[in-house]
Amino acid sequence: MQLLDGMTAIITGAASPRGLGKATARLFAQHGARVAILDLDADEAAEAAADLPGTGHTSGVCDVTDKAACDTVVADIIAQWGQVDILVNNAGITQPLKLMEIAPHNYDAVLDVNLRGTLYMSQAVIPHMRARRQGSIVNLSSVSAQRGGGIFGGPHYSAAKAGILGLTKAMARELAPAGVRSNAICPGFIATDITAGKLTDEMRAQVLDGIPMGRAGTADDVAGCALFLASSLSAYVTGSEVDVNGGSLIH
Ligand code: NAD
Repeated sequence: MQLLDGMTAIITGAASPRGLGKATARLFAQHGARVAILDLDADEAAEAAADLPGTGHTSGVCDVTDKAACDTVVADIIAQWGQVDILVNNAGITQPLKLMEIAPHNYDAVLDVNLRGTLYMSQAVIPHMRARRQGSIVNLSSVSAQRGGGIFGGPHYSAAKAGILGLTKAMARELAPAGVRSNAICPGFIATDITAGKLTDEMRAQVLDGIPMGRAGTADDVAGCALFLASSLSAYVTGSEVDVNGGSLIH
């Protein structure tokens, strides 16, 4: 069954080959969507788009912290496709800092990519989605927002991802009457390049110890949840935060 037949999706930060954005792009494409892969590097984004199953995909350079860049690239995609049904705000960075180590530039970098970027990209698609009275926005938060870190990112990362939860719910409330939905995914520990090579064996063992399912998640585990939230299977779901964490936060 093709859940996204005839639909189009923009996914930010989706060039990272083992990342959550790329896995989501692949699954969306398998379900019939045309996908626009946005990232910082043009060649990497184009390569990722060319690697997707099916045809009609596109790519673009977009630093999500740059409002003008977000507006321009979204306008270009709408001009090309005539419609954007889904936005996945996936671009994100993290830094393993302790509270007192966070310098102003660390705060700016992490808050800007994760939170400001989610706002700017959403603002870029919302007028179009409102006018069509349909659309699904999926935001990548993190278990770090819910439990105050404890995996890899520092307190500024937890704060940025918690900010995304608030923004997701506020957008859901404001956009619901216009037929546009907004939901967040809270992944737990997923093996991607965001932590690759940066965890000691001891840190990894400690993280795995706290996961009832006893394994790290995969990018496909998160993509499946994004597909649900993007498709009409979740037509009556908005303002929700969905845990994809192997049971790490059962309470
Ligand atoms: P990743 O590092 O593999 O990919 C992130 C991508 O974002 C990269 O391609 C990078 O180039 C891009 N990016 C960085 N800054 C950008 C900017 N300013 N504008 C546009 N693109 C930018 O990371 P991932 O593990 O695939 O994570 C994807 C999302 O999921 C992130 O928001 C991350 O915080 C979140 N997340 C990941 C995990 C995990 O365990 N991997 C857990 C919880 C949440």
